[in-house]
Amino acid sequence: MIAMKVVIATGVPGVGKTTVTSKAVELLKEKGYKVKVANFGDYMLKVAVERGWVKHRDEMRKLNLSQQRELQALAAKAIIEEARKELGEDGVLIVDTHAAINTPTGIWPGLPKHVIENLNPAIIFVIEASPEEIVERQRGDKGRVRSDYSDTEFLRRFMEFARNSAIASAVLVGAAVNVIYNRQGEVDKAALKFVEAVEKI
Ligand code: ATP
Ligand code: AMP
Ligand code: MG
Repeated sequence: MIAMKVVIATGVPGVGKTTVTSKAVELLKEKGYKVKVANFGDYMLKVAVERGWVKHRDEMRKLNLSQQRELQALAAKAIIEEARKELGEDGVLIVDTHAAINTPTGIWPGLPKHVIENLNPAIIFVIEASPEEIVERQRGDKGRVRSDYSDTEFLRRFMEFARNSAIASAVLVGAAVNVIYNRQGEVDKAALKFVEAVEKI
């Protein structure tokens, strides 16, 4: 069993998980915490590129489900192994990922039993914003391809799935679910709420 604190940041593509998480890491480091942030997609992408399956991170959710499942399991294992080595008992591991993924086979859990049990988080954050704000953010973020999540009506329905998926995963390990609203231009406020919750673990 690992002694470090683990928290997971989830939310739909373009809502601001990576942005809020980066700010929260900054704040936690200022407070003297030893922090590691692991972007789940980075770990999956490394293997997917090595195998010649994709060139870009936004292509992974279009792969066959069996391929995605394999990448997912490998990523969870690698993240926890690396974090165990890097962080001591007082460390905080933040995993930047998704509770639900829109795949051609259907909406698929990012944190199924084997993944969530491996990560064993104390908190699953669900970062949210209005669908209109999310689409606007996606538009401004040219390096990413999120067109499969850019319809506001779809986003509204998908966000419900994503929140419910987070709760379903949390139940498996007794984690808290913490919904944070990432308001336009207010990343710092969202990050502060994130940090306050981490400090209460
Ligand atoms: P993905 O799941 O696709 O990785 P993400 O949730 O990590 O997406 P980010 O990459 O953090 O999303 O943010 C998407 C875009 O929105 C970025 O250009 C970022 O600068 C911007 N952004 C994030 N939060 C806010 C905010 N509160 N106000 C304005 N812009 C924001
Ligand atoms: P991100 O940069 O967070 O959008 O992650 C890039 C891609 O990695 C996502 O679009 C998914 O295809 C994949 N991914 C990230 N986290 C998970 C997860 N927990 N389970 C399955 N796929 C994931
Ligand atoms: Mg991101």
